[in-house]
Amino acid sequence: SEIILEGRGLTRRYKTDTGQTLTACRGVDLTLHKGKTLGIVGESGCGKSTLLRMVTQLEQPDEGRLFYFGKDITSLKGEELRKNRRHIQMVFQDSSAAFFPRMKVSEAVSEPLRNFKRLSQREVDRQVSKLLELVELPESFSERYPHSMSGGQRQRLGIARALALNPDVLVCDEATSALDVSVQQRIIQLLAEIQRERKLSMIFVCHDLALVQSMSHQIMVMYLGGVVESLPGNQMWERACHPYSKALLGSIFAVDMDFDKPLSRLEGDVPSPLDLPKGCPFHTRCAQCMDRCQQERPALRTIGPDHQVACHLYSNEVKECI
Ligand code: SF4
Ligand code: MG
Repeated sequence: SEIILEGRGLTRRYKTDTGQTLTACRGVDLTLHKGKTLGIVGESGCGKSTLLRMVTQLEQPDEGRLFYFGKDITSLKGEELRKNRRHIQMVFQDSSAAFFPRMKVSEAVSEPLRNFKRLSQREVDRQVSKLLELVELPESFSERYPHSMSGGQRQRLGIARALALNPDVLVCDEATSALDVSVQQRIIQLLAEIQRERKLSMIFVCHDLALVQSMSHQIMVMYLGGVVESLPGNQMWERACHPYSKALLGSIFAVDMDFDKPLSRLEGDVPSPLDLPKGCPFHTRCAQCMDRCQQERPALRTIGPDHQVACHLYSNEVKECI
């Protein structure tokens, strides 16, 4: 299907207080198709949030380009940037942070509408009730205050607000992570329904691999600012082959699962992104590390339909040896 959003070589560096350079994202490519979901997984610090800030144009990349319907939008500024942002909207982990405490639900949901369009009050009211209906909140909620609502209800509100301008892309950054499992599942269902109805494209970032897997047409696994594997969501269990992807899958079964901490079952610590090891960024923790891995950084190679992996175990040379 049609490509909505495309990133090529997206790279972002930060200067630390001590004058060092931290590369939060290194040469990331991504492709988002119409009506599809791209899932992004990885431990905290892997560059997911930085990537999202570039994709939603809150930050510009230091290198690389971003295309929206084939148009280069990397360096948009001012009014053009503002206009373009409405097409790519974001739902955060805690949407309530985006709501001013004295704003009623109706005002919170209609704020983007009022910022971007000249609408009569009657038309604003009509759209607010449509949006509340879409996220299955009663119309009577429009007079309430977000802080008087439950976490799940506020998250629905966050979704309604993000959809107010009818974006093409909805970016969900840990959007359901703070919720109870049952509430979480209902929100996920709701997002899937809205996606089908509106042919919405989604980028779904979450530390819960099982959840990402169930949502995503394509999954990107990130480690230390780079993509180590990309493959179709429905092939994750059978086909994922990067040692890090496998470790993530393995830890789904761990009892004390907490993906935001370094994986306890992996040997070694996550290297500091300030001081990336030479060779494969994962070699300090990889049980299958070979001599070559400490010297040479593996490139992302295509090993199957929609399947890429960055690991020397799957380079052509080694494949021939097996
Ligand atoms: Fe492990 Fe080497 Fe593959 Fe890196 S390249 S993941 S160190 S086997
Ligand atoms: Mg983050």
